[in-house]
Amino acid sequence: MNESGKRRLSLSWGAATDQGRVRTTNQDAMHTDSGLFAVADGMGGHQGGEVAANIAVRTLSSAKHDSLENFESAFVEANRVVHQTALNKPNLHGMGTTLTAIAVLGAADSRHFAIANVGDSRIYRFNGAEFEQLTLDHSYVAELVRREEITEADAATHPYRNMLTRAIGVHSEVQVDSWRLTPKEGDRFILCSDGLTNELSDTELMKHLLKNPLASNAAKALVRAANMHGGRDNTTVVVINVNIENIQTSESDTGAQVNEKQSNSLISDNKHNGLISKLFLRLKRTRVFDLSDVNNLEEN
Ligand code: MG
Repeated sequence: MNESGKRRLSLSWGAATDQGRVRTTNQDAMHTDSGLFAVADGMGGHQGGEVAANIAVRTLSSAKHDSLENFESAFVEANRVVHQTALNKPNLHGMGTTLTAIAVLGAADSRHFAIANVGDSRIYRFNGAEFEQLTLDHSYVAELVRREEITEADAATHPYRNMLTRAIGVHSEVQVDSWRLTPKEGDRFILCSDGLTNELSDTELMKHLLKNPLASNAAKALVRAANMHGGRDNTTVVVINVNIENIQTSESDTGAQVNEKQSNSLISDNKHNGLISKLFLRLKRTRVFDLSDVNNLEEN
């Protein structure tokens, strides 16, 4: 009997989203099912951000995402649909969104992930010890950090910290980062909008993950913690827990199992509107800049 190489992947997940304590709308969107997990953070005044994020997530989830190539094409299609919608509707002109996602690929006994990203929403992997950001932020300050022109600490307070260098829907074409990854037993994947990471340090994120082994509890705890820290932006978190079982090849193989679906938990905590929200609304992302644009701005 051959006992080699067969793995059955089980995923459990939970998600939470909240508009935060300052914003009056939630312009984040998300998608969670057994084959696709996505977070989008829209931008572009009034309702534009909300529309862009929802179109992007809907287009991605309805397009084929059963291979890395199709997954990347689905991102390109999301870009096309958001961009075309913005061109057709003057009140939505200039809207765009981040989009970060995991698609579950492969045959039943060799499941793996495809990851794709545009913008500064993030995917992390935590295995109980190592905490790793898998995605690169496509933002002006992240570029400066990568060039070692500023530090991470400078980036957190930089006046252009909200400027993206890539987004879905802003231009007619988009460059997508995408790659394959094999999840390991005990891995936890966290997809989030910047409302989480602008409020909490990596250490704080790990603390909440360790305290909350259930994916749904972890997602809710992280969103609550972002609000406790100020909740200056919409916050969306998806947590996926990975369980891998080695199986014998002779066993009847039903493939990847989704043992426990922990449905979206919507947390409402909107007690802090008013004057301060108007101040912070001005800070919200409304434009995407190329690095050359920013350099021009600085010269003016
Ligand atoms: Mg945001």
